[in-house]
Amino acid sequence: MINVLFAARPERWTTYEAPLKAAFQELALEVNLRTDLAPQEVDYIVYAPNSEVQDFGPYTDCKAVLNLWAGVEAITGNQTLTQPLARMVDYGLTQGMIEWVTGHVLRHHLGMDLHITGQDGDWRTFVPPLAEDRRVTILGLGELGMACANALAGLGFPVTGWSRSAKTAEGITCLNGPGGLTEALATADILVLLLPNTPATTNILNHETLSQLPKGAVIINPGRGQLIDDDALLTALDCGQVGHATLDVFRVEPLPKDHPYWAHPNVTVTPHIASETRPVSASRVIAQNIRRCEDGEPLLYLVDRAAGY
Ligand code: NAP
Repeated sequence: MINVLFAARPERWTTYEAPLKAAFQELALEVNLRTDLAPQEVDYIVYAPNSEVQDFGPYTDCKAVLNLWAGVEAITGNQTLTQPLARMVDYGLTQGMIEWVTGHVLRHHLGMDLHITGQDGDWRTFVPPLAEDRRVTILGLGELGMACANALAGLGFPVTGWSRSAKTAEGITCLNGPGGLTEALATADILVLLLPNTPATTNILNHETLSQLPKGAVIINPGRGQLIDDDALLTALDCGQVGHATLDVFRVEPLPKDHPYWAHPNVTVTPHIASETRPVSASRVIAQNIRRCEDGEPLLYLVDRAAGY
């Protein structure tokens, strides 16, 4: 029997208990899935960083911590965590992000606001350019960034992506390194941020890098709030260097009611809903990783603790 501790907010147990049990059964894994196991009994922890478990020291026989979230910045620095950590890569999470990013790119590309907010009898004849004439850059070409890049390229947008390591992908201009960032920004009519929050990516959008964007560029951030220097963005919005910012993630969440983003006419705030781990598909990923570990195979989606993602 494999003892699996479910360590997340209590309300998550109701959404995950049945899908996890079904996924374990699909792989014929004999699992004792509980929310209240004694630490020394635990073989695996299914984990959300906002759970009550913050000290991993007592989990002496735990073989792996399996994160339910894609973002791991709240846990990579935890010195008590000596067990391997896998992050979440989930079909449902990726699909949700593709849909959210594509929707918001199309909103700005097509100038939808002109018609949605202007039903006043004025016959506004703005005809948007074709996608092939609107350049999109995605910072971060990982699971989510690459999936969004492919979806947008499929619609005809010229897509440039930027990552830490060099990559090639059909139909995407792939850049990396500091020089690559300058080039990626210079061609970003619409800029999408899908980088993780690490020491190397904090404030990657700042006064200097914002000034490298084409004037009036649109920023869409479903990555993390820490990627943006908020004061620099507000200055760039006020002077028209940035035309609009659609922001899903913030340094402090929920975004405080008096934050200038709420009242800014060229900012759209969404409440960290760009995409979420979906219990059924994510449970299969968790089950697959436990099966792999039990069979002595390497874990999928292992986090590089030194790089922070
Ligand atoms: P991932 O697969 O780990 O991809 C991260 C990408 O960022 C990789 O391409 C990586 O480069 C690149 N990168 C990391 N550090 C870099 C640096 N210093 N310079 C240049 N590129 C760098 O992560 P993911 O699954 O795509 O998720 C990305 C982020 O999305 C998560 O970390 C999370 O913060 C956010 N997220 C948000 C929501 C939401 O609802 N808003 C939902 C899910 C995830 P390499 O390819 O070279 O490693």
